[in-house]
Amino acid sequence: MTIEKEVTCIVCPIGCKILVKYTGTSLDVLTGNKCKKGIEYARSEVFNPRRMLTSSIHVQGGEWPLVSVKSTTSVPKDKIFTVLEELHKITIKAPIKSKQIILKNVANMGIDIITTKTVHVLKKP
Ligand code: SF4
Repeated sequence: MTIEKEVTCIVCPIGCKILVKYTGTSLDVLTGNKCKKGIEYARSEVFNPRRMLTSSIHVQGGEWPLVSVKSTTSVPKDKIFTVLEELHKITIKAPIKSKQIILKNVANMGIDIITTKTVHVLKKP
């Protein structure tokens, strides 16, 4: 069965709307891409959609109750919930450094989850 689908390319701010036709593992770009990067993006979005993952986790004893985290590379879309569930179980103790690894090789994908900011220990008055 051949399927037609519109994919919005997010590789650059132009955001081309790319019309593709695919069946099995074969994909044809019909219209819409202004450059070749859009073809690869559309192929990835149709056959292996991925997203950068951002979230936050609980902090114990820190100046902030949460610290923001992100994946080191994009995560397959169908694994995002699994990773978020793992993150929601975690509480880490301050102090926390930026780019500190929180989960290594998460879900056996070769992707780490790291912090995106520093959290100091809460100073008591
Ligand atoms: S197809 Fe090329 S020009 Fe269009 S959004 Fe993607 S990267 Fe940008």
